[in-house]
Amino acid sequence: MTQDHHFTKGTLVAVLTTEPLDRPLDYKAPEGGCQIGDFVQVPLGPRKVLGCVWGKGRGGFDLSKARAISNILDVAPMTPDMMSFLARVGAYTLTPMPAMLRLATRAPGLVDPPSMRKVYTLGTGEMPRETDARRRVIAALKDTPNLAFTLKELAEHVGVGTAVIKGMVPSGAVLEQDSPRDLEFPHLDPHASGKTLSDDQAAASTALRAAVASETYSTTLLKGVTGSGKTEVYLEAVAECLAKGRQALVLLPEIALTSEFLDRVEERFGAKPAEWHSGVTMTERRRVWKMVGSGGAQMVIGARSALFLPYRNLGLIVVDEEHDTSYKQEEGVLYNARDMSVLRASLCSATVVLASATPSLETWANVEAGKYKRLDLQSRYGPAVMPEMKALDMRTEKLPATRFISDQLVAAVNERVERGEQSLLFINRRGYAPVTICRACGFQIACDHCDARMVEHRFLKRLMCHQCGETKEMPTTCPSCKAEGRLAPVGPGVERLAEEVIEKFPDAKVAVLSSDLFGSARALKEQIKLIANGDTDIVIGTQLVAKGHNFPNLTLVGVIDADLGLQGSDLRAAERTFQLMRQVAGRAGRAEKRGTALMQTYQPEHPVIRAILAGDEEGFWKTEAEERKMAGVPPYGRMAGIILSGPDLGDVTRAAGDLARNTMPLQKIGAMVFGPAPAPIARVRGKHRVRLLVKAEKNAPLQNALSRWAAGVRLPKNVRLQIDIDPQSFW
Ligand code: ADP
Ligand code: ZN
Repeated sequence: MTQDHHFTKGTLVAVLTTEPLDRPLDYKAPEGGCQIGDFVQVPLGPRKVLGCVWGKGRGGFDLSKARAISNILDVAPMTPDMMSFLARVGAYTLTPMPAMLRLATRAPGLVDPPSMRKVYTLGTGEMPRETDARRRVIAALKDTPNLAFTLKELAEHVGVGTAVIKGMVPSGAVLEQDSPRDLEFPHLDPHASGKTLSDDQAAASTALRAAVASETYSTTLLKGVTGSGKTEVYLEAVAECLAKGRQALVLLPEIALTSEFLDRVEERFGAKPAEWHSGVTMTERRRVWKMVGSGGAQMVIGARSALFLPYRNLGLIVVDEEHDTSYKQEEGVLYNARDMSVLRASLCSATVVLASATPSLETWANVEAGKYKRLDLQSRYGPAVMPEMKALDMRTEKLPATRFISDQLVAAVNERVERGEQSLLFINRRGYAPVTICRACGFQIACDHCDARMVEHRFLKRLMCHQCGETKEMPTTCPSCKAEGRLAPVGPGVERLAEEVIEKFPDAKVAVLSSDLFGSARALKEQIKLIANGDTDIVIGTQLVAKGHNFPNLTLVGVIDADLGLQGSDLRAAERTFQLMRQVAGRAGRAEKRGTALMQTYQPEHPVIRAILAGDEEGFWKTEAEERKMAGVPPYGRMAGIILSGPDLGDVTRAAGDLARNTMPLQKIGAMVFGPAPAPIARVRGKHRVRLLVKAEKNAPLQNALSRWAAGVRLPKNVRLQIDIDPQSFW
């Protein structure tokens, strides 16, 4: 598929469509011909559907019956490397090609002809009369100077009527302009100068620039504690990439919180990059998609699906916080954006930078095996040093069951409050209490549709299922024994911790950071900004705060339950706890003041807790690697999760049994099948779930065997089979 294939009018070509068909369909090339990679519309029955010219037609049928391609879309054709990428990801994840094409065309209106439309941006005129709604419109436009909104999008974004916005046009407070639908992005200047780098930053930057400049494939782990300047360094690689005239992609996990990052890019290159994530408007999505395809966007920052944009000439992919679990897509196409970045780069001769303070064992192992290079940033930039870490042995604390903050931690927080410094109390659990139990009969309130207990959210005044999102009112009598007023919360969540903090530190200013407490990403950003400015004594937070926010005045981190993550049966439980605890501890002492991290634990002698305290990273990874090698699990063996689900438990169980009995294709490659067993969460949204687990040796042809295996068993219509290659979660 590498040569420029042109088909003259009437030639039979194969068109891959986004419809769930098992193969590309044959069509005649339209007037003027077409070429491989052209995006087209083709007739299918009475409809027109989106497709892509995939190659020569197969023929073998009455040619007079062949229909012609309706039209070629006015967008850049798919590049050969993108076509191979989709095919390879499809084969790796066992995803049918139409679903791959859907993933690669997730922008609205691609089939619409280019046209003008009205867009609304910030004007220079005075606001005639200030109202709350008008102020919000201005605030939103100031917040996103880079985005063009249509009237409807802006109204929805701000939460005002369209008349409010229209009413602000005559005075010039809001600018209404005709604009071609999809504008190029402002130019980023790769030659603008960056910060003066420290010695090890400069060394890393030189190595990465050379890798990018070579325009060949390579992957490098960029390892350094939070604050060591990884971002500063990989922006140098971006500069090199842009100077070469190639495109750069930066993947980030917490996309709602990227405004700080956008500002840094603007500071470095003089303009903001294109953004691609769920918070981006539909109009903007189409613009990004088209501009990435035509070369009108030099740099994209985005969530994992930004990897499937139609880059013209991709030269660099940065995966920031590469260990983050959100890079694995857990619905639809089950891919890992970190791993697929490496594949994509290898197909288009690009550089991959995997940045992390706490790399995944997968990446660690690839470095050991010599597949990835490694660069280290030794210390934090400037005077900051890693915090001092200590365990608080909760067995000696004798707290009542309704209390979660030990006396030692209280004393440490008080010291900080008196000195005017900030403390962070971390608990990785949203809501008020994870379990509500009846003190009379022991009944626990569970979700009606899932095999999960409901979590009390006092802030919302409801019980919520964290599996399906279903909520219900907190009952006053026990649903089981009808006892009145005996329902009690058990265990802590972030809201309950907040209650205790307010009681213990009545004069302190307290802020709670938990994703579900904020109506919008903007409100959350505001709160983070306030905290960073030092306007809070005690921050109470969930996992959200473990990510890269910079709180310069924070000198103490208290981890409420360091054991929480160690309880699961997940093969990565130790790894995740290690990463999370180190990330959280890294929040302390980012400026001049040395920080302290105190971890409350009931098992201070647990090897993972000990490794965290000792700061012995290499030791931890070596031990962890040994254990996984012995068990033959990733990254030293391969795994696939099989999930069967459906409304009828009998059907699901029978289908799973059939699969378990017919494992010939798997036996042939020496793979082992475990299960079937009810999934840890055996019912979600009313569907029963049964799991099997397949384990194979590292080099076994697993996908091939899995597809032959699945094809050998007839599933009842109401049972769905999902295959998860390299599973990250086992729920
Ligand atoms: P990381 O990505 O490793 O967390 P950052 O690149 O965000 O680290 O750097 C942490 C902070 O230190 C940022 O505010 C950054 O601007 C600053 N910084 C890092 N390196 C330098 C440098 N060489 N000169 C000036 N400031 C720097
Ligand atoms: Zn539920």
